Amino acid sequence: MTAGGSAKPPGGDAMKIRDLKPCDNCGKPIGIIFYIVRSTIAVVKQESIREYVGLSLMLGSGLLAETMGGHQDSVVDLLADQKDENGKPLGWREAFLCGDCHGSDLNIAALAEKVLDREATTT
Ligand SMILES: [Zn+2]
Repeated sequence: MTAGGSAKPPGGDAMKIRDLKPCDNCGKPIGIIFYIVRSTIAVVKQESIREYVGLSLMLGSGLLAETMGGHQDSVVDLLADQKDENGKPLGWREAFLCGDCHGSDLNIAALAEKVLDREATTT
């Protein structure tokens, strides 16, 4: 499946010292080896799915339906470039995690909120 949105996660190639942050979950230093977890909201386009299911039933083949369907290259919208009802950007959330937190049980939604709060106070 190919995501239909044009948004891509931020770089990740060259990271400078000033880009390093404490762990977004526990607040401790990230250490030598750390993890970057990126997330955004993805929404399946219902019209594309309906078209696929309808064509599959008509043609008797999901593969043919995928080939013949007009919207199959973009069945998912990434909401990375949009804002929620409160005006907060839905963009990519990039969380830094230390090794201990990466291996622990995490609530990804709560982590994304912590990242959003950090970004709001540092920008
Ligand atoms: Zn941590």
